[in-house]
Amino acid sequence: MITSKTSFLALIGNPVSHSLSPIMHNAALKYLGLDLIYIAIPCKDKDLKLVINSLKKINCKGLNITIPHKQKIFDLCSEISPIANKLKAINTLKINDYKEWSATNTDVDGFIYPLKSLNFSKKESIVLGSGGAARSVIQGLVNLNFSKITIISRNVNSLNELIKNFPNQTKLNFLLSKDKKIPELIEESDLIVNTTPVGMKTYGNVEQTLPFGENFWTSLNSKTTVYDLIYNPTQTQLLKLSEKKGCMTINGIQMLIAQGAKSLSYWTEGLEVPFEVMHEALKKYL
Ligand code: NAP
Repeated sequence: MITSKTSFLALIGNPVSHSLSPIMHNAALKYLGLDLIYIAIPCKDKDLKLVINSLKKINCKGLNITIPHKQKIFDLCSEISPIANKLKAINTLKINDYKEWSATNTDVDGFIYPLKSLNFSKKESIVLGSGGAARSVIQGLVNLNFSKITIISRNVNSLNELIKNFPNQTKLNFLLSKDKKIPELIEESDLIVNTTPVGMKTYGNVEQTLPFGENFWTSLNSKTTVYDLIYNPTQTQLLKLSEKKGCMTINGIQMLIAQGAKSLSYWTEGLEVPFEVMHEALKKYL
């Protein structure tokens, strides 16, 4: 029951109305019997400083940060974890003993979660896209000991920015999406991860629903596992095409829950979080 003692957690982003975080977090909070609720707060760029500084003055215990604020929030935090600093992206804040924001990033753990039971040591991988999520994915692939990580992007500027985050990483190769080497790399790859938002829309022509269009995927074969970070829809055009080619597929749901569970554990000083309760809540909702 919500009473006058109830505190809250919140997601800050713009837009937030599509987010599934309140569904899974409120299910977990109820299961754990905590006097906390989780809400989504839309926040424009121009209001970010005011909103973040105001929330630390009231009964808000923690925040998730999403698009477009993950990089912009740094100056508003007093403590930043090494992983958030390295990736230049923050997705979780909590109030510390001095009533200031401590910050971290739980996306790397979230990304790795569905891959942990598979052995990818010394294998080859491809990452599509060079935005915020690509940084966590690359770090995750480095942690999993992939021997080769090729990042393919349409955008030379964001690719150059990304390169700066991973100095001295000899396993990484960076290519533009028209590169002639791509069909061979796709044929040989053990894991391909889509971090572009292409596939979130279910209507439109193939260029709008399949990353880099149909020809890009001609050499994909059943040895490759295809991981799409998109969780809504749960089966994107890319995952449908990959299944037809006999590939193992992974959607973004497990990552969503695992990064959320890690945030909840951070807010509650290491409490064991019920992954399955969160998963069931999402399945029922979707
Ligand atoms: P972002 O920072 O905007 O990066 C998106 C990347 O995709 C950019 O490199 C962008 O290129 C590229 N891109 C966009 N449209 C494209 C197109 N039509 N063709 C080729 N490349 C295109 O976004 P993000 O934060 O990384 O998020 C990306 C996706 O991951 C979203 O769908 C998000 O929902 C998902 N995600 C899921 C989870 C999860 O828990 N499952 C967590 C984080 C993110 P430009 O630089 O040229 O725009």
